[in-house]
Amino acid sequence: MRIPYIAGNWKMNMTPSQGAALVKELAKQVKGCNAKVMVAPPFVTIPAVVEAAKGTNIIVAAQNINEHDSGAYTGEVSCEMLMDLGVGNVIIGHSERRIIYKESDELINAKVLKALSHNFDIVLCVGETLEEREAGKLEEVLSRQVNVGLKGVTASQMSAITIAYEPVWAIGTGKTATPEDANKAHAFIRSLVANLYGKKVAEETIIQYGGSVKPSNVKELMACEHIDGALVGGASLKAEQFVPIVRCGVLE
Ligand code: PEP
Repeated sequence: MRIPYIAGNWKMNMTPSQGAALVKELAKQVKGCNAKVMVAPPFVTIPAVVEAAKGTNIIVAAQNINEHDSGAYTGEVSCEMLMDLGVGNVIIGHSERRIIYKESDELINAKVLKALSHNFDIVLCVGETLEEREAGKLEEVLSRQVNVGLKGVTASQMSAITIAYEPVWAIGTGKTATPEDANKAHAFIRSLVANLYGKKVAEETIIQYGGSVKPSNVKELMACEHIDGALVGGASLKAEQFVPIVRCGVLE
């Protein structure tokens, strides 16, 4: 049974006071909901959000980590620092990290292994650019991102890994993959996980869809066999948009 998992990536939005206020509002409105709910604030906003989320069902995650434990890495944040704040979840390999900050599959894999070594739960993002999709490279790109991203991850560690399929051309653009296209990509990702870890692990792996998810399109996406949740950017910044998305993930 795959529990629906709805996550909000706040990106570089929300000051500490804005973030705390949003989480208090979300907590009121998603109380008792049996979907897994996560928000990922910017680093400096995390302490206020952790405080506001105490005693609620909202998980607080980081948007990134460094692949080292400590040292001369100016501007970076380690797993240990996050753990000290009570954070044990992280998004790794978001397309904005891959494209703007030139994170390679190998670096992303090092971050995955580092996070697992500290018992973090991870949302590992994968997805093709429009250019790659139009060149017929969808499966090649997803295979590389999944196989390299998960290199050295054991079958038992896969319970800590959620995969987010986020076609880059659908992020923040208002364009959503059709449910059929998204489901096809999710099924392919599940087959990659099955090749690596066997059918049982693949059946248990949560695969989120991300890319302009809104209250108006979440239902048809979530109805697809292989779509188990959503990673939401823009629509996670307002309770009136994020709550209906979370509610759609509620188990009947
Ligand atoms: C994201 O950043 O992961 C994302 C999917 O953004 P948006 O929902 O705004 O497209």
